Amino acid sequence: MQRLSKSNIGSILDLAIEADLDAEEKTGWAAKLAARNIVNQLKGAIDTAAHQPDSFIAVKVSSLIPPAVLHSLSSSLNKLKENAVEVNGNSDQLNFEQFKKLADHYTGLKSLDLSKLFAEYDLNKDGLLSYADLYAIFSIANFENCKALLSDHPVPAYDRKLTIEDIETFKLIFEEIDDLCEYAKTKNVKLMMDAEQSYFQPAIDSVVLAMCRKHNAKAGEKVQLKGPLVYNTYQMYLVDALDRLKSDVDRFELEQLSFGVKLVRGAYMVSERERAEKHGIKSPVHIDIESSHKSFDSGLEFIVQKQGSTVCSRDSCDLSMVVATHNHKSVQCTTELMERYAVPRTGGWISFGQLLGMQDGVTEQLACNGYKALKYVPYGPVPTILPYLHRRAQENSTMIKAMESDRAAIEKEIIYRVFGQ
Ligand SMILES: Cc1cc2nc3c(=O)[nH]c(=O)nc-3n(C[C@H](O)[C@H](O)[C@H](O)COP(=O)(O)OP(=O)(O)OC[C@H]3O[C@@H](n4cnc5c(N)ncnc54)[C@H](O)[C@@H]3O)c2cc1C
Repeated sequence: MQRLSKSNIGSILDLAIEADLDAEEKTGWAAKLAARNIVNQLKGAIDTAAHQPDSFIAVKVSSLIPPAVLHSLSSSLNKLKENAVEVNGNSDQLNFEQFKKLADHYTGLKSLDLSKLFAEYDLNKDGLLSYADLYAIFSIANFENCKALLSDHPVPAYDRKLTIEDIETFKLIFEEIDDLCEYAKTKNVKLMMDAEQSYFQPAIDSVVLAMCRKHNAKAGEKVQLKGPLVYNTYQMYLVDALDRLKSDVDRFELEQLSFGVKLVRGAYMVSERERAEKHGIKSPVHIDIESSHKSFDSGLEFIVQKQGSTVCSRDSCDLSMVVATHNHKSVQCTTELMERYAVPRTGGWISFGQLLGMQDGVTEQLACNGYKALKYVPYGPVPTILPYLHRRAQENSTMIKAMESDRAAIEKEIIYRVFGQ
């Protein structure tokens, strides 16, 4: 971190612990105590990161909440969306009549005051709820509403049914994650919440957005920390990512809260496709790389354009973005967009992130040109970090090719400096 900081490069400390569905299944207090153990390790990372201003730590929610629990909540949130699409005829919003029809699918919802709920979450008072509004209603932070998602519907074999024990486990671990965010706030260290497999992601989003709501500053509020405390990650290789990104950003704008997004393409393409094929379902990932690039570029432009429209009126950045990519074209596209929409290089509006040891030339060049450049620094005990890095290498075989172009650029530069040609 000190070495990077000498080159004006910040760090994102990444404790290399994650879990998938084959992890040991813990529930209730056992799961809470396991999460507390990880939170304590993450607090250690925060203490280290706090030595340098504007540092981040990365958090993998699957290291805190048992994967089986993430899976069941994600399945029920997906079912909620499926039911919503059924009642609204595939539009991306629900009016009150459609919301009441949706409630017919859930016995637990009948005891809630639907008109009060609708009015409370229809922030712009246009008589319509977006999916971000709907997910805010059923946020894991609203435990009572979330219980309404328990249903008798059968679930397909590849999904997992939500149980009351899952919600109780969530509630217990939620307190630990909340404690982590409080700690990060006192130390002025930002939290970058990673995105993971699509079958965990709706639950991860629910936890992360609840933390953003609770801990990110009010828009325009003068706080010691520049920009938001908690960042959510959007994997633009997912077919629904662009809509979710827009919907979440718009909702946080309406809630007048600062919001941070990390844009990535996504690291689980191979395993997502294998899983989809195994279960005979549609892969959630774009069909080809061009579509992933297009989705990534559209996400970039959406954010930079929004930032450009507020940058003159505010001196604090309420919408921050970390562009996490090794792709030269994406980096160039971002700097061009920043130019076009007059978004400053400093002030925390936009940062760039690359993994330590990957595209170091790009990171150095960005830092030299006054952009905020960050390195993602994985660390941890050898028995966990080696399998972790092995998985990253498998998932990112396309990235390994990018290392070759990095090496070729360095060789060219050395030849130029030594021989002048
Ligand atoms: C700082 C940092 C943080 C990261 N955090 C996360 C995270 O939280 N969650 C996460 O999932 N990933 C994360 N990643 C990894 C990231 O998602 C990508 O896997 C990795 O960066 C490669 O994408 P690229 O944009 O760098 O390179 P590129 O070479 O431009 O893109 C490669 C990516 O394109 C997509 N792709 C490739 N082929 C196809 C195809 N045939 N069809 C559709 N899409 C295709 C895949 O996503 C692949 O990884 C992070 C990366 C960095 C640098």
